[in-house]
Amino acid sequence: MIDKILDKVNQSKELNKQEILQLFKITDEDDFKKLLSTASYIRDSISEDIKLTSTIHLTNICKVSPKCKYCGFASNTSKEGYYSGFYKKHDEILKIAECIDKTEIPRISCSGAHGYNGRQAIEAAKIVKGKTSLELLVNVGTDLTPSAIKELSKYNTDTICCNLETINEELFNELKPGEQLRDRIKVCEMVCEEGIELSSGLLIGIGESYEDRVNHLLFLKRFKTLGEIPVMGFNPYKGTPMEHHPKCSIEEQMKTIAITRIIYPKIRITVPTPTIGPKNAKYSLLAGANNLATVVPQNYPLNIKGVGSPSYGNLEDVLNIVDDLGLKVSSKY
Ligand code: SF4
Repeated sequence: MIDKILDKVNQSKELNKQEILQLFKITDEDDFKKLLSTASYIRDSISEDIKLTSTIHLTNICKVSPKCKYCGFASNTSKEGYYSGFYKKHDEILKIAECIDKTEIPRISCSGAHGYNGRQAIEAAKIVKGKTSLELLVNVGTDLTPSAIKELSKYNTDTICCNLETINEELFNELKPGEQLRDRIKVCEMVCEEGIELSSGLLIGIGESYEDRVNHLLFLKRFKTLGEIPVMGFNPYKGTPMEHHPKCSIEEQMKTIAITRIIYPKIRITVPTPTIGPKNAKYSLLAGANNLATVVPQNYPLNIKGVGSPSYGNLEDVLNIVDDLGLKVSSKY
């Protein structure tokens, strides 16, 4: 059965929903290996370049209320996270961006909490795109207006990210009681209307079914400028309402990455090093991912904690992983 589905993939034929679901249901070890090698072959046949993305957290003071149940990033949510509120000053953003610009990392993500109508993102875009050669992804979730998106475009923002997390609305409402799924979809639509590349991903291991994941992956096809799909495995943050919910296994993350690659051969699949765990970053590449995020050089100038987990990928380690797998880090513009 699996061989038949993977043969179809190898002939570049589109899979139907049932076939994708069968791939998610793989339990046999050999079938799992075949799935991974099919996915990584697809990636390598298009490009063996692996993108690295670093990060600047702009603010953790979030006006969403109640807070998302898994969130350990916003102020006062988890002692493992930042906990105290901060808002990065312009000179701090510049210092970090300049530090990253001197490394092999070609791209930076500027992300932050909600409640500023995109001002925090626009200020960061002005600095990063005005003073460095870095590619820029901005992620402030739904905290964007149409005019803020236009301004981000004016400052040459390369990508705007708005993760839907899950399109199972009941689950979304349960885990994100201060947000509405339709608002996230609306932001994705606005980004597409502006002609900016959209990044929109899945948070997995939060109680969603395989069918939810399939529906989600197929739902993303409607977004015309979709260029990136982050696959984020859930990690519990101490002190949050989900601290006892089990973390998402590596196998589930690999399976989801591989299936995403099969459905979207050319897309950038992003795996944040904090959510997979820095030591496991290589497994995401073996499954067909081509962007490792939250990669931080040794001399990163400020205190940093990952989103989804406080740990993050060290640049030296990540370069070694990419090299050991015979892949190469994509160069700057
Ligand atoms: S996940 Fe984002 S939107 Fe939700 S509470 Fe945390 S910072 Fe705010």
